[in-house]
Amino acid sequence: MHFSGRTWRPPYEAHSVIIQATSGCTYNKCKFCNLYKNECFRMSPIEEFEEDLAKIKRYQPNARRIFWTGANPFAMSYENLKLRALTVRDYLIKCQTMAMFASIRDIKGKDVRQLRKLRAMGINGLSIGVESGDDETLALADKGYTSKDVLEQCRKLDEAGIDYMTGLAGKGKGERNARNSAKLFNRLNPYFISVDSLTLFLDTELYRMAQHGLFVPALEKERIRELQTLINNLNIRTHLLGNTISNFTPVTAFLPYDREKVTSRLQFVLDNTDEKEMQKYRSNLKSLG
Ligand code: SF4
Repeated sequence: MHFSGRTWRPPYEAHSVIIQATSGCTYNKCKFCNLYKNECFRMSPIEEFEEDLAKIKRYQPNARRIFWTGANPFAMSYENLKLRALTVRDYLIKCQTMAMFASIRDIKGKDVRQLRKLRAMGINGLSIGVESGDDETLALADKGYTSKDVLEQCRKLDEAGIDYMTGLAGKGKGERNARNSAKLFNRLNPYFISVDSLTLFLDTELYRMAQHGLFVPALEKERIRELQTLINNLNIRTHLLGNTISNFTPVTAFLPYDREKVTSRLQFVLDNTDEKEMQKYRSNLKSLG
């Protein structure tokens, strides 16, 4: 298989077949992120993609879901995505669904008709690293778009998953971040909301800002309260997946049904765990993969 550079897939894709479609990130500027810092964006040539599909066909001919790796394979043009989606279909005849990361910028260049067509071809598992619905937090993280852009672009999609990050707004601002994000997410229709918690890695801009007192990270307990606020303010039916290693307390919930259960569980952790123990957990995290 032609894996080059960093290969990363979210935990909820653990049962999917993995193929490299791109490597690196087209943007690479988010202040908290070091995932693809030392890589240039590269699109896997179609010949390479096809060779990998031939291998997958040999070992997993009945694969039903395939995850395309790279920070944002959806940056490819409509025609390129179409070609690849149809090629997947040629090799894996039982494949029903294709998933990948996408950024708000990647959706901008595609119209609703194209997005619907891609979905009909099987690209129906987009996961979008929105991170926040709060404009101040988006600007602080240098995500390169506003909540208005998120609303406009996500509304063009029939269904997608979005990512949220607790702690990203900084100390004392988690409540505002959660409320504004819930307000925005309530206007979208995310199939799931995946939650991570900010971990400051050495080679990120946000880490450097923290060193110079320009960013004060939220305490661990504030992040848990932020997550409770988010959950309490979401009034849509959605899956909440807060079970990556960046979360001190892994939680998953189907909202609104599990709201009470999951916020009580988080409250139990708040009441019975020492802040220092939580901070120790985070300082031991060397990567998110
Ligand atoms: S968070 Fe995503 S879009 Fe931002 S730099 Fe990292 S990989 Fe790229």
